[in-house]
Amino acid sequence: MIEFKDVEKYYGDFHALKNINLKVEAGETVVLIGPSGSGKSTLIRTVNGLEPIQEGHLIVNGFDLADSKTDMNRIRKNVGMVFQHFNLYANKTVLENIMLAPRKVLKIDEAENKRVAMALLERVGLAEKADKMPSSLSGGQQQRIAIARSLAMKPKALLFDEPTSALDPEMVNDVLNIMKEIAADSDMTTLVVTHEMGFAKQVADRVIFMADGQILEDAPTTEFFAHPKEPRAQKFLSQIM
Ligand code: ATP
Ligand code: MG
Repeated sequence: MIEFKDVEKYYGDFHALKNINLKVEAGETVVLIGPSGSGKSTLIRTVNGLEPIQEGHLIVNGFDLADSKTDMNRIRKNVGMVFQHFNLYANKTVLENIMLAPRKVLKIDEAENKRVAMALLERVGLAEKADKMPSSLSGGQQQRIAIARSLAMKPKALLFDEPTSALDPEMVNDVLNIMKEIAADSDMTTLVVTHEMGFAKQVADRVIFMADGQILEDAPTTEFFAHPKEPRAQKFLSQIM
């Protein structure tokens, strides 16, 4: 579970997140949309502590990130993140990319680690690429590996920041299909920044619309798309759909 309570975030003097109140229940899938510069990446980066908050409370899996006693390594262990640019380790094989964090952080048995990694590669349809280097894969394949790598840590929550926006169009659906499966997993809390409105309509429980560092609208998906209340959300939707 992820809960923002009156969160304020600044970059120096710049007020990037303004009075954010948001609750994402365990197992829920929430899509975050809004114009460029509205604070979407900033918001999701605060959830695993990549960006600190200055005021308010941010409770992730029962721990308050505003509390200096909270162990950030423990938070990051349970919250995976998938970026626009996949950030795979270029000098390691696909299989090694997936096995690295479970070995170092979870310290799981090597045979079990490999079994889990291979099962995840099967799941994203890339088992035959296990021994390849990332650079020999397409962008869509690399992104599917990045997702498998996140899943290998068995996170409670998974954050996606525009995971398909750097991909060639023909690669987008392969990645979205895997994300749909993850979203359907009732144990996984999923927060997704995306411009893929078809995906949002199909899998999101709720849609959050941000502008200027604020949440302007937070509504169940069907309601949001049928009757966006905020004029800025209406305008945004008319521009991208
Ligand atoms: P996009 O759709 O373009 O990815 P976004 O909604 O993800 O935009 P953010 O990247 O969260 O927006 O940025 C929100 C605001 O904070 C922007 O005005 C941006 O310039 C500013 N900002 C982001 N990161 C930093 C930083 N490290 N230092 C200073 N300002 C930043
Ligand atoms: Mg962004």
